[in-house]
Amino acid sequence: MGSLDRSTIWPYEDGEPGRFYYSRYANPTVEEAERQVGELDGGTALLFPSGAGAACALVLGLLNPDDTIALAEGCYYGTGVLLTELERWGLRHVEFDQTGPPPDGVQLVWLEAPSNPFLTMPDIAAAVAHPAPVVVDATAATPIHLQPLEQGADFVLHSATKYLAGHDDALLGAVVCADPETAERLQRFRGVAGIVAAPDVAWLLLRGLKTLRIRVERQTATARELADRLRAHPKIETVRYPGIGGLMSFDVADGEAARRVETATELIVNATSLGGTTTVIETRARWEGDRVPSGLLRLSVGLEDPDALWADLERALAT
Ligand SMILES: *Cc1c(COP(=O)(O)O)cnc(C)c1O
Repeated sequence: MGSLDRSTIWPYEDGEPGRFYYSRYANPTVEEAERQVGELDGGTALLFPSGAGAACALVLGLLNPDDTIALAEGCYYGTGVLLTELERWGLRHVEFDQTGPPPDGVQLVWLEAPSNPFLTMPDIAAAVAHPAPVVVDATAATPIHLQPLEQGADFVLHSATKYLAGHDDALLGAVVCADPETAERLQRFRGVAGIVAAPDVAWLLLRGLKTLRIRVERQTATARELADRLRAHPKIETVRYPGIGGLMSFDVADGEAARRVETATELIVNATSLGGTTTVIETRARWEGDRVPSGLLRLSVGLEDPDALWADLERALAT
């Protein structure tokens, strides 16, 4: 377990910079967290100050103006918003159905496993057969359930804010690269651009990683149980859950009914985000009303007692 080193500078050794000399380029606490994330995903990991920062650094660091990204339809809303913002810099993106092959003529394929909040799983093999490099945002699957690099993907991206850190108190992102030379290129870009993670949050990530497996396995077991019970509930129209992880979404009749449910739960907190120890629920139409059903509720299952969670949901659904 690495100790927390907040230094921004370290003394030169015999008049020369050593491995650590200025923390924008490297920090021992951040490096230890990267080593552990890299081990989980089977590649070279780099940390960033958030998942969005990781995505931004990946495309700015490795792509060029006029390049086009094939983006999984229905993936994390913020990724599409970021890529739209970057259109000003000449980066393009087209959406495609990630359950099939990506379109021709793109320079990067961006998948999400499972997509948030539609919970589709990508066809990684079809994407890997495409000549462009493939990134899999595996935030919701976690390395416990999915190993995209083993399946031939080039990059795994995590919002480590979610399951990896796991306690709703650390904002962090990670990119895990299959190719060490590409990782080096991205690391150089990260250093000069200054999109670097702080040691305190890296330390919180190290703390979270100790319980990653036990948390995710428990969250998956509870989520499977809740998804089954929701599917059998007369007020629920659709349940989206791929069978792995703690994230799901389901639809009630309309926006009003969804609002009643999210404000009626007591144990389950009405808040955004996912992957923490506390179960949270929210209607997503408030953020992405242009593409989700108004009655869609996103549920991130935490570590509470499954029967207590179900009792809370059942009571909220009855209001
Ligand atoms: C939250 C999230 C992100 C963005 O990560 P931040 O840490 O919030 O910047 C990216 N992808 C997915 C799937 C997410 O859930």
